[in-house]
Amino acid sequence: MTDKAARAEGAAAAGQGAGAGAPARVATLTSGLDWQYAPAPQARDIVPIAAEYGLFVAGEFTPATGGRTFATINPATEEPIAQVAQAGAADVDRAVAAARDAYEHVWGPMPGAERAKYLYRIARILQERSREFAVLESIDNGKPIRETRDVDVPLAAAHFFYYAGWADKLDYAGFGPAPRALGVAGQVIPWNFPLLMAAWKLAPALAAGNTCVLKPAETTPLTALLLAQVCQQAGLPPGVVNILTGAGETGAAVVAHPGVNKVAFTGSTEVGIAINRAIAGTGKKLTLELGGKAANVVFDDAPIDQAVEGIVNGIFFNQGHVCCAGSRLLVQESVADHVVDRLRRRLQTLRLGDPLDKNTDIGAINSRPQLEKITRLAAAGEAEGAHRWSPPCELPKRGFWFAPTVFTGVSQSHRIAQEEIFGPVLSVLTFRTPQEAVTKANNTPYGLSAGIWTEKGSRILWMAQRMRAGVVWANTYNLFDPASPFGGYRESGFGREGGRHGLAAYLDV
Ligand code: NDP
Repeated sequence: MTDKAARAEGAAAAGQGAGAGAPARVATLTSGLDWQYAPAPQARDIVPIAAEYGLFVAGEFTPATGGRTFATINPATEEPIAQVAQAGAADVDRAVAAARDAYEHVWGPMPGAERAKYLYRIARILQERSREFAVLESIDNGKPIRETRDVDVPLAAAHFFYYAGWADKLDYAGFGPAPRALGVAGQVIPWNFPLLMAAWKLAPALAAGNTCVLKPAETTPLTALLLAQVCQQAGLPPGVVNILTGAGETGAAVVAHPGVNKVAFTGSTEVGIAINRAIAGTGKKLTLELGGKAANVVFDDAPIDQAVEGIVNGIFFNQGHVCCAGSRLLVQESVADHVVDRLRRRLQTLRLGDPLDKNTDIGAINSRPQLEKITRLAAAGEAEGAHRWSPPCELPKRGFWFAPTVFTGVSQSHRIAQEEIFGPVLSVLTFRTPQEAVTKANNTPYGLSAGIWTEKGSRILWMAQRMRAGVVWANTYNLFDPASPFGGYRESGFGREGGRHGLAAYLDV
């Protein structure tokens, strides 16, 4: 028995393992050996979690007017984590008034170089408190600590650093001399990257001189509220950032408020369309970052092992709760069997279970409704005749879980090839020629992202010019950088976040 195995056995005997009701582990099969990783739990006491959280308005935490609250739960265990204030119309009024006051008297007139100092401070505190954020995000969202620690939190800090650098250089950003801020930004974000989406929204808005009213998703409010504490710690003037927790109607009230000058939304296409309708004719500036059904295209000359890693990262990262997920795999017919075979072998090494275990690859589905949606669409795939496969995978008894799933024999008309599943479900289609790959890749109402795997640079350029997607990755997938603009067109929305382009959304240009 190895030292690791002995430790695992000792821990299990002492009752220190994942514990009753905690997610089970999956055996991994490597070189024919059947072996288990020892538990590697991340300590959760690094982040104190309060029993109740208020709204963050004018620099203070306050209860909702009328005192309404809702519970946020841990999707890996279904246990309640905390009660959170539910903002109503009066709270939206208060928050918008605080943001307006801060915009007119403090943040708007402040020189960009001074604003930058606050953003740098927030970025540094995010780095200093990164483990707290990573743990809290995993608990509230269900995503693995490996991802929150290595992706969500560092990228969130990077966004604040990046936009801090722009705050005093707006005159040279290519938007003409002295571009003006818009005023109060109303920002509504989803649950799949709660902290990162908050950073994507707040950092450019603040750098450009706007003040913000941000509404996190109902199922993942906690890291936005921890970020509010960071704003306090950084000495950010009251009212510059306001955070209103609540459900869809809170978001609708923020968006519709007459005191809001700019609306930024990330979420479903359906709600994006409703928001577009709601604010039509008001003069509010709008950016929408909506759904996707990206094609990840693998040619027969691609480095197959790397492509398989890219496929896995493309669709199983963050349980597939990713708007730009590579949910449609298009493989050249001559290598399709080989690629699918390699992919299945790779999927057998993925570990599904406790999000706070540092070895976990696949965490919990964020909510019961999302699990139901994934289950429904996967069932539709089977009913329509596609072949369903998952690696052997014992799902935990409690919480929301879905095994990584691959559908082969998918045709373009299948619902699993057309609709955004937003879960760990991959649909595999084949093609023979580059033109067929382009035609199939573009056979979607969305246009957010795409991937190309080939050793030929000329083919990458040829494909990238023809794929109707806002972001095209070549020989990689799901790679993000604050300096690089991100966004879609068609039913994936409009406007760009990140880079210099991300500033335009928050300036009167
Ligand atoms: P939504 O689009 O409903 O939620 C996104 C955000 O908008 C949340 O903060 C939500 O609040 C808020 N919201 C809901 N209704 C309104 C409204 N009328 N006006 C203003 N804000 C509103 O996504 P869901 O969470 O319901 O997920 C449904 C599906 O959407 C998923 O299955 C997935 O396919 C897709 N989706 C896509 C995302 C992407 O990045 N492309 C992100 C999230 C979801 P609350 O959470 O409290 O309801």
